[in-house]
Amino acid sequence: MPIQPRLDAATAMANMADTKPPFTPQEAKVEASRCLFCYDAPCIMACPTGIDIPTFIRKITTDNLTGAARTILEANVLGASCARVCPTQMLCEGACVMLDLEKDPIQIGRLQRRATDHVAAAGIDVLHAPAEKNGRTVAILGAGPAGLGCAAELARLGYAVTVYDKKPAGGGLNTYGIAYYKMRPEVSLDEVRMIERLGVTFRYGVEIGRDVHAADLLRDDHAVFIGVGLGGANRLGISGEDLPEVVDALDFIEWIHTRPLEAVPVGRRVVVLGCGNTAIDAVTQAKRLGADEATIVYRRGAAEMSAYPFEYDLAKTDGATFLFDTVPVEVVAKDGHVAGLRLAKTAVRDGRVSVVPGSEWTHACDMVLKAVGQEKQVGLLERLFPGLKVDAKGRVAHDPATMQTSLPKVFVGGDAASGGREVVNAVAEGKKAALGIHAFLGGTAAGGVLQPSRLGMPDGAVGSGFDHPIRVHELEAALKQG
Ligand SMILES: Cc1cc2nc3c(=O)[nH]c(=O)nc-3n(C[C@H](O)[C@H](O)[C@H](O)COP(=O)(O)OP(=O)(O)OC[C@H]3O[C@@H](n4cnc5c(N)ncnc54)[C@H](O)[C@@H]3O)c2cc1C
Ligand code: SF4
Repeated sequence: MPIQPRLDAATAMANMADTKPPFTPQEAKVEASRCLFCYDAPCIMACPTGIDIPTFIRKITTDNLTGAARTILEANVLGASCARVCPTQMLCEGACVMLDLEKDPIQIGRLQRRATDHVAAAGIDVLHAPAEKNGRTVAILGAGPAGLGCAAELARLGYAVTVYDKKPAGGGLNTYGIAYYKMRPEVSLDEVRMIERLGVTFRYGVEIGRDVHAADLLRDDHAVFIGVGLGGANRLGISGEDLPEVVDALDFIEWIHTRPLEAVPVGRRVVVLGCGNTAIDAVTQAKRLGADEATIVYRRGAAEMSAYPFEYDLAKTDGATFLFDTVPVEVVAKDGHVAGLRLAKTAVRDGRVSVVPGSEWTHACDMVLKAVGQEKQVGLLERLFPGLKVDAKGRVAHDPATMQTSLPKVFVGGDAASGGREVVNAVAEGKKAALGIHAFLGGTAAGGVLQPSRLGMPDGAVGSGFDHPIRVHELEAALKQG
């Protein structure tokens, strides 16, 4: 049977309500006043964008919400979305000294939301770009968090920036991929509009490689930034994969962001393949949109899943079930539609997963969501940029201090560089690349390329970015020194 929408609008909206609702003004002041305003605050060190957290929290205690938002947005232009989507337990809140005192950590994410919501609602722009441009142009491929982080910083430095994206709107996965109960797409679209007001030009519906050629950008612009993220879901390679109810989990989440909630089709019995954070988002939203049953199938054990523990707990609370040490071997069809999944148990020997012979059974279901990892865009990037180096894991190789690639005029950031991390990492890398471009084009007092060795890097290092993480504010400080 074809799948259908299952809930009326009011029920669907109620089920998808914010899991972390905003603070009231009074709650925010009380929470802010718990902060110890630590010297050398560990929460700042744990933030990839280096937001001065105690400073913005102190401003909230004195009702200076605009000042608090300025502190946040100058460090991280996507401060409003990061307030909602950051896994704060693993970052700033996980580093809060309150935990050492056996108290609850300061709720930094919700305080950040309080400040950034204030300026968004009041229509106050706290970031500005110089009226006079510096005569240099930069092309940015991809309007996701990495491209936006790069574009905003370059605009503030006086560059004329054009961002190209194949989608009809900006924001990348922030607009089309985040779980609806964490953030509505409007928040991300508001951030894009704020960056537009810095003078950045956006060209939507433009696919690089089809509508615009990288060679033309390399000829016409002073630098190019690659922020194209990752591709679609990896294929399963099993029979029945092309049935209509076998859907990429990213496409399912995109339906949720681009259709009324009451028009999103969902199965009665949904199976999600994979056990990363995308799988958890998919299974949780399937349940919240009315699936009677939603099951995660994962080929390894619970200890090896890449989903964060708090995401796993959320899915369990929502009623999702988990089949560990299990793989799909075939999608079962009836009258051209999904009727079930043949599953088999797995065993792990010497780190390798194999199917246990004779362990197969059929699990009845009417929808299968694929969340088994996203493809890297290696083929596209190598075709567009001859000579661009890509590492063995399909990530664009780069100098982690400046995000410069093996092609001097080309910089990279976000998932295309890291292979897939978080929004805050992408925006930090975009900003770092903007500073790298500025240095490359002579923006330092000394002029010329910022040498990696000045940041404790081996000269000429071109790495994955994981080996030598250099934080944005360290690069900013090095640039200021010249
Ligand atoms: C389902 C899902 C849920 C997630 N949830 C969270 C979360 O809760 N919290 C969190 O911090 N992170 C989350 N992430 C991770 C986060 O979304 C990414 O790390 C982040 O969006 C990466 O930013 P990016 O700019 O590198 O790529 P993207 O956001 O993917 O943006 C890339 C942009 O490039 C465009 N593009 C691609 N190819 C071309 C081309 N040829 N021509 C023109 N444009 C092109 C795309 O249309 C897109 O707009 C999630 C990821 C997924 C998949
Ligand atoms: S570590 Fe915690 S208490 Fe200290 S400044 Fe940061 S948020 Fe405040």
